[in-house]
Amino acid sequence: MTAKLIDGKAIAKEIQEELTREVAELKEKHGVVPGLATVLVGDNPASQTYVRMKQKRSAEVGIHSVGYTLPGDATQEEVEALVRKLNADPTIHGILVQLPLPKHLNEEAVLNAISIEKDVDGFHPINIGRLAMKGRQALFAPCTPAGIIELIDRTGIAIEGKEAVVLGRSNIVGLPVSMLLLKRNATITICHSRTHDLPAVTRRADILVAAVGRPLMVKADWVKPGAVVIDVGINRVDDPSRKRGYRLVGDVDFEEVKEVAGWITPVPGGVGPMTIAMLLKNTVTAAKRAAGLL
Ligand code: NDP
Repeated sequence: MTAKLIDGKAIAKEIQEELTREVAELKEKHGVVPGLATVLVGDNPASQTYVRMKQKRSAEVGIHSVGYTLPGDATQEEVEALVRKLNADPTIHGILVQLPLPKHLNEEAVLNAISIEKDVDGFHPINIGRLAMKGRQALFAPCTPAGIIELIDRTGIAIEGKEAVVLGRSNIVGLPVSMLLLKRNATITICHSRTHDLPAVTRRADILVAAVGRPLMVKADWVKPGAVVIDVGINRVDDPSRKRGYRLVGDVDFEEVKEVAGWITPVPGGVGPMTIAMLLKNTVTAAKRAAGLL
């Protein structure tokens, strides 16, 4: 292996330890306890797992976390009424509505109802809009994209002036990470399902972010020697040798690409752990802002 590993698990742990110290200090010096409310609608098992993990990690750093679960047939008004109640609750600094919401609900209207100061997931249209505007700052950047930038920064890799190629243009990863890289003065190319000759485009990248949801799509000859490769993909592939019958792989063919890249994130243990770490960080930031400490 020639590439160096970017260890997201270790970096997320480091952030969690920093936050634990910061939360203890906030409480001791200012009597402030950051509060995070999670809102889960329905009983999607993956969403339940994500929410449980977020609550567990919150508790570990000393964030007060409160979980709300609404039935899968909850109405738009019921979900928005809960969000409004949490907007008005001074003990809650961050509101996380677990996505996706059941199909009958208007997701954008729910996200719009969250007070922008409490939008720790960073999906409020105003936050996304600010992310896309030159000279403006979002109050919160979406957690996975922010985690990607943090991974690159903490590895000591400079972003400014680099050629960055992002595979994927989703609202939760591809688009916002492109905006964040642009704000950091990288030169950006965004690819998607209609892009012609993807390998020719990705081979230009000094920093390549793969967020497509296609197992092992990025091969060694897609990557410029020495590039930084960030693999956001989480894909299940059958593996009868495992007890659960599958294993998780990224969008990057790690075994091949690690021989070409300069830096690479593994899956699991790369971008994944950063998402929750950034949610906790955003919640602490929200609490500090509410207390006038920022
Ligand atoms: P989406 O399905 O919303 O978006 C996928 C993007 O990839 C789209 O822009 C799509 O193009 C593009 N795409 C799909 N197939 C191809 C192809 N063959 N060639 C070129 N482009 C293609 O996915 P998400 O952004 O939500 O997630 C991407 C991956 O990241 C998934 O594996 C997901 O599980 C993972 N993920 C991981 C997180 C973490 O914490 N680590 C958090 C969120 C997601 P088009 O727009 O044209 O359709």
